[in-house]
Amino acid sequence: MNVRCLLLFAILLLSACVTEAPAPDPMRDGGLLWVKHSAEYRAITEQVYAEATRDLPRFIEDTSWSVIPWQDDADDLPVAVILDVDETVVSHIDFQLTFERPFENWKLDEWVRGTDATPVHGVKQFVEAARAAGVTVFFVTNRPCEPRDGIDDPCPQRQSTIDDINEVGISADAEHVFLSEERGWNREKSTRRNYIAQTHRVVILIGDDLGDFLPCARTKPYAPCTNNATAADRMTMVEQHSHLWGNGWYILPNPMHGSWTSAIPQ
Ligand SMILES: [Mg+2]
Repeated sequence: MNVRCLLLFAILLLSACVTEAPAPDPMRDGGLLWVKHSAEYRAITEQVYAEATRDLPRFIEDTSWSVIPWQDDADDLPVAVILDVDETVVSHIDFQLTFERPFENWKLDEWVRGTDATPVHGVKQFVEAARAAGVTVFFVTNRPCEPRDGIDDPCPQRQSTIDDINEVGISADAEHVFLSEERGWNREKSTRRNYIAQTHRVVILIGDDLGDFLPCARTKPYAPCTNNATAADRMTMVEQHSHLWGNGWYILPNPMHGSWTSAIPQ
C-alpha cells in the first residue's frame, strides 16, 4: 500500500469515527441499558406479577382486606385492583433510549402514537387472572390531557393510552382509565385511588413510583398535598408501610425516570 492509499484509508477511517453515533455509556446510561437488555429486569417484572397473581385470591376472600388506608367496612363492594400504566403495563424503554433531551410531554405523546406499545412482562397474565376472578381492573396514569392541533377532544391522550393498553393484549375502556387533569384531578394519584375506593374494595396496587402507592410522596406537591417530600421522608414512608410491600402493594423497578429523580439530594 503506497502513501497515498494509506492517507486515503486514514481519512476514511477518521470520517467513519466522526459520524458514528456514540456508544451507550454503561456508567451514564446504566439504568436504560439494564431495562433494555438485561434478562434480570424481565425476571423481576414477571416475579412481581406472579406474586400479585398468587396473592390475589387471598385478598378477594378476606372481605376486610383493602390497600386504601381509610377503607373499612367495604365488605359488600365489588373488588378492584389499580395499575399504573407507564413502566407498569407498557414499557417506554425505546423512547427513553432515543428521544432528544430534554423530556417534554409532546415528545412522548408523538412517540406513543407512532409506535406499537411494548409490554411489561407478566402484566397480561395478571390482568387475565384478575378478570377471571371477577375483579375490576383500573388504570391510573399521570399521562396528562393536552390538546392537539385540529382535534376538539380536550383529552386525546385518553384514547392513546387505551390503544397502548390494547396493543399489549389487554382490553381497556374510558371507564377504567384515569389520566391526570381529567375531572379536576392532578398528578397526585391518591385522589383517583380514593375515587375508585368509593365504589370498589381495592385489594392490590401495582406501579413503579412511590406515588402509585402513597399520597404526598413528591418533592413538588400537588393538591391536596402541601409537603415537599425529601429523599429521607420517602425512605421513612417506605419503612412505615413495610407490611404492604409484596403484600397488596407490588412495585416494579424503574431506574430511568420517576419522582425519585427529583428527590436526589443536591
Ligand atoms: Mg409509571
